[in-house]
Amino acid sequence: YESSFKGKTAVVTGAGRGIGRAIVAKLHSLGVTVYAISRNPANLTLLQSKYSHVKPVAVDLGDWESTRAAIEKIPAVDYLVNNAGISITANFLDMKQQDLDAIYEVNLKAVINVSQVVAKKMIAAGKSGSIVNVSSAGGLRAFPTVCAYSTMKAALDHLTKCMAIELGPQKIRVNSINPGVVMTDMFKAFQKDMSNVKVDEGAMAAANARIPSPQKVNEVEEVVNTIVFLLSNAVPMIVGSSIALDGGFCIG
Ligand code: NDP
Repeated sequence: YESSFKGKTAVVTGAGRGIGRAIVAKLHSLGVTVYAISRNPANLTLLQSKYSHVKPVAVDLGDWESTRAAIEKIPAVDYLVNNAGISITANFLDMKQQDLDAIYEVNLKAVINVSQVVAKKMIAAGKSGSIVNVSSAGGLRAFPTVCAYSTMKAALDHLTKCMAIELGPQKIRVNSINPGVVMTDMFKAFQKDMSNVKVDEGAMAAANARIPSPQKVNEVEEVVNTIVFLLSNAVPMIVGSSIALDGGFCIG
């Protein structure tokens, strides 16, 4: 199925670092022209110096109007990966209003904003499109200290189904993926933040013990491969699904 990507176009959000950057690299290697959306222009400049077909778009996805204007300038594409996300570590009783707002703006509202513009253009151009929303295993099963993040990811999974049911008849498939740990800047920051929150060691150990797989952590490439598979024409009947990459964390 990888040969079907050649000559196609994609929008990838959160492209400056981590999983997003690796998605851009993979799609570029398959011959896709990628509109790479991220906040920090320096990261995008680096990306473009390495991958010539990448078209950088620097915008803060938390800003609805600027994002809308930036995405409107992009022509109709074949694929969209809503990957950008932020995580804020806090116990439930200590969550702050501004943190809830920030997570809502980037992890959910921006997905709606970007997807509306991209999907309308896909439909107008008569494309068979595919959209993947990057959710989290935390959206499928509760984990201590990431309540706001997990709740928004659960909402993202439901949004995925709502998008899939309305966009399916318009030839656009929508799915989400739900990785467990991936060793990026985000997870490293989470590990650092753990010293600032109250951790129930028993609950944490029980959660980690739920992973039956000998492998406990995702390689970035494994996440990217799954995204590319879902984007591709190889799986036309996977629609509105949330695919866990969690070593079995969510089944036990
Ligand atoms: P990173 O923190 O490594 O990278 C996040 C990317 O998103 C960066 O490029 C960042 O831009 C961009 N971004 C964040 N906020 C904004 C914003 N307001 N506007 C534009 N761009 C923004 O995260 P990961 O690669 O680890 O995470 C990618 C996705 O995977 C997220 O949705 C995350 O929730 C999900 N995920 C991650 C897991 C993990 O363990 N790492 C596990 C499960 C899911 P910039 O470089 O400009 O700051």
